[in-house]
Amino acid sequence: MKKLFIVPLAFLVFSCSSTKNKQKDYAKADVAKYMKTITDADLKKHLYIVASDEMEGRNTGEPGQKKAGKYLISQYEANGISFPKAATDWYQKVPSAFMARNFSPKLNDSENIWAFIEGSEKPDEILVISAHYDHVGMKNGEVYNGADDDGSGTVALLEIAQAFMQAKKDGYGPKRSILFLHVTGEEHGLHGSRYYSENPLYPIANTIADLNIDMIGRRDDAHKDNGNYVYVIGSDRLSTDLHNINEAANKKYTNLALDYTFNDRKDPNQFYFRSDHYNFAKKGIPIIFYFNGVHDDYHQASDEPNKIEYDLLAKRAQLAFVTAWELANRENRPVVDKDGK
Ligand SMILES: [Zn+2]
Repeated sequence: MKKLFIVPLAFLVFSCSSTKNKQKDYAKADVAKYMKTITDADLKKHLYIVASDEMEGRNTGEPGQKKAGKYLISQYEANGISFPKAATDWYQKVPSAFMARNFSPKLNDSENIWAFIEGSEKPDEILVISAHYDHVGMKNGEVYNGADDDGSGTVALLEIAQAFMQAKKDGYGPKRSILFLHVTGEEHGLHGSRYYSENPLYPIANTIADLNIDMIGRRDDAHKDNGNYVYVIGSDRLSTDLHNINEAANKKYTNLALDYTFNDRKDPNQFYFRSDHYNFAKKGIPIIFYFNGVHDDYHQASDEPNKIEYDLLAKRAQLAFVTAWELANRENRPVVDKDGK
């Protein structure tokens, strides 16, 4: 008996240690260092471009939106990040017909834009981080820049992707794959995210969560004396794990006041149903919606980059990053233990 044991045990020890040598100990990764690469200055630089008059308010299917999209792609390329392996280019075309509604004007063909960092251990499990890059365009010759809505979420994705890529260069690439999804057609009815959820690049069953960022660069009246907050919506509706992960990440790294006012099922605003995460939640994918609430410039031509509080934008983007870090690297994906209601 004993002799029979010795050989396999020796093999076992050998194979364990050789695996360990290849894999970095993620507990030693300096997450805060990567988090801090998400800076006020970088976000500001990107947002003054994405929400400039040149982008003509980024209306769905219009040249200004396409131009903004090209800028996003150029930034991923500059960071050595590519489009998903499963795709042939940066775009998921969302056809005009898909977005047609009796009550709204005809929209031209448009595109979701995607970037991808492949997971090192569980590449088939996908974390989605989403933000819509369309806005409402121009009215009476005035450009609606949509700096907060949702220029803020758009540039947050660029910075979060860059932070993950920096970690990867140090040997701490995400264990699960991350899909950075810039969706179109949100303002006209959450079209781009609905299109993705019905035509997913990776199976819905393998999509572990969606972190959706829509308006995180301002503060609302309820927080006029202290901007150190973010509304968290939907985190507990499908997965207690996801809710706890976000809370723990915030406590450890960002210390924002997490405001759950709008997560109240009875809240009249019903924001849970009003941005792109909902199309993921509908499919049973756990989601978090990060949001600063509405303000006087919401959907006005005055939603401009000079009104953004870049320190707040950075901190909220950092929270999304550290939550994403945990989701991408922890042993188990968040368990779905609730019905989504
Ligand atoms: Zn929005």
